[in-house]
Amino acid sequence: MKTTVVRAQYKTKDGNELTKAAICLADGGLVAFPTETVYGLGADALNAEAAKRIYEAKGRPSDNPLIVHIAKVEDMDKIAHVNEMATVLAQAFWPGPLTIVLPKKDIVPYGTTGGLDTVAIRMPSHPVALRLIEESGVLVAAPSANTSGRPSPTKADHVVEDMTGKIDYIIDGGEVGIGIESTIVDVSGEIPTILRPGFITKKMLEDVIGPVMIDPALEKPLDGFRPKAPGMKYTHYAPKGELTLVESDADDTEAVVRQIIQLAKEKREAGFRVGIMAPEGTLSQYQGVADVVLCVGNRDEQSTVAAHLYGALRDFDTENVDYIYAESFRGDGLSYAIMNRLLKAAGQRVMKV
Ligand code: AMP
Ligand code: MG
Repeated sequence: MKTTVVRAQYKTKDGNELTKAAICLADGGLVAFPTETVYGLGADALNAEAAKRIYEAKGRPSDNPLIVHIAKVEDMDKIAHVNEMATVLAQAFWPGPLTIVLPKKDIVPYGTTGGLDTVAIRMPSHPVALRLIEESGVLVAAPSANTSGRPSPTKADHVVEDMTGKIDYIIDGGEVGIGIESTIVDVSGEIPTILRPGFITKKMLEDVIGPVMIDPALEKPLDGFRPKAPGMKYTHYAPKGELTLVESDADDTEAVVRQIIQLAKEKREAGFRVGIMAPEGTLSQYQGVADVVLCVGNRDEQSTVAAHLYGALRDFDTENVDYIYAESFRGDGLSYAIMNRLLKAAGQRVMKV
């Protein structure tokens, strides 16, 4: 299959290229597009055949449901039984990086929801995403546009790497702003529950709707809890090299740095290629210690870490490193979401010093 890469010139009136992609989407094609979180791989959500092609292109397990992207809040009613809480959340956070899970209506094929009776819905804020959805006239099922298991794409080049020859269009809208996937909150039951942490934090949700739970499977991933978001059970975001997080309960940064340097030395002496991922503050201490040393933003500005995380993990792949060591990012708010992704990328491998 030929994959056409087009640039999203959403600031001009020249929408020709994007329009072709929108028509293709409406005809059952696959179109990757930028959102404010990560790049998505879109198909008509109400066309079971089209949605099925997403799973093929990504190599995604078929029980892992897709998020339906809409461009108008009212469209939520077309596909879900909307309740008060969902309405309030949509008003507060849409368009934006919040996905809301609700009981689905019959019009949504089980092929889109991975066999579930609920549907996950989001209205993105990225102007290219909104325009594509509007122009296509369909509701757009869109998981992240990466090969299943790899880090999510934060720029069009990442999508080109994974999806060339497998999908119809890639719309290049530059680098995304947030860099990690949307927060998923399930409001289909009694107590609203976070199924995946993201840029919209627990506190932000609670300020609007009161007490919110976190899916216990996120807190204790190794204790056999089954996550309510099927996708959260899979190895994810993982680089090819083995990633280990190093942390100190006593907040002893120097001890962490020493440990990482020691680990890197040992692996290099054994003949392996080693990568280190660190924030601006400690970066210089690792220079020359590993084959590849990458900056993952500024610890005091968590949003910069979220924005660089997946790109860095992919760069380690490009550099073919065998082992990666990274400082961890424990904390509340956005840090909680960053650590959720890092722990999954590391297969929960954490070394305490
Ligand atoms: P991705 O779009 O690649 O970020 O993955 C979508 C995530 O949303 C996966 O973790 C899915 O398991 C989750 N998800 C989608 N629909 C539902 C649903 N109806 N109930 C719970 N989780 C869902
Ligand atoms: Mg994904």
